[in-house]
Amino acid sequence: MRQKDQTAPRILVVEDEASLGELLSYNLEAEGYIVDRAERGEEAELKLLEKAPDLLILDWMLPDLSGIEICRRLRAREETKTLPVIMLTARSEENERVRGLSVGADDYVVKPFSVPELLARVRALLRRVSPERIAARLGIGDLELDRESHRVRRSGRDIHLGPTEFRLLEHLMQRPGRVFTRAQLLDAIWGLSAEIDERTVDVHVGRLRKALSRANEADPIRTVRGAGYGFDDRFSK
Ligand code: CA
Repeated sequence: MRQKDQTAPRILVVEDEASLGELLSYNLEAEGYIVDRAERGEEAELKLLEKAPDLLILDWMLPDLSGIEICRRLRAREETKTLPVIMLTARSEENERVRGLSVGADDYVVKPFSVPELLARVRALLRRVSPERIAARLGIGDLELDRESHRVRRSGRDIHLGPTEFRLLEHLMQRPGRVFTRAQLLDAIWGLSAEIDERTVDVHVGRLRKALSRANEADPIRTVRGAGYGFDDRFSK
């Protein structure tokens, strides 16, 4: 299972059938997403008003507010107008799917569906709306990181990194220019509950640097005294 990454896409699952909601959130979390759940429409509305997720999985039939109504309201609000929505429908409602799509759902799956199928839809939709967060490859300057094969190359040569250094580099490359404190990196790479000294971050950043750069190559990692570390946004220039 991947470590929790605070920059991972956030998904809200709205499903009144508790066992299905649990199954979905378990599998989405295993894929590295940050998952929140709601079992009722009104509860979902509140969560959506408070903080919009990156993607919404929305059951059609809910005890109070229907999925269709939630979707309609989302589309009417500026902040959630383009929020990606996957609708879950029962087979008997399948002939109504056109209505679902007409109120603005991006995709739908018919129950009972296979979890891998839903996960594939989620990936496809996120890739469509925010390719930089879900792209299989990150490339900056002469540095390339492949998330699927877990390979890193610089100027075409393979760079061998340990799993922690890999996640660290992936995290930094996702937000070039942004400086992360040691505490933020600990949370993102090791997880909130890890009781690890902040100096551990320095050790791993040191290893990462050593692996990335040969003698006269530019160092892609910036150290900001008193603040933390970031991926140098001037690196590619
Ligand atoms: Ca339902």
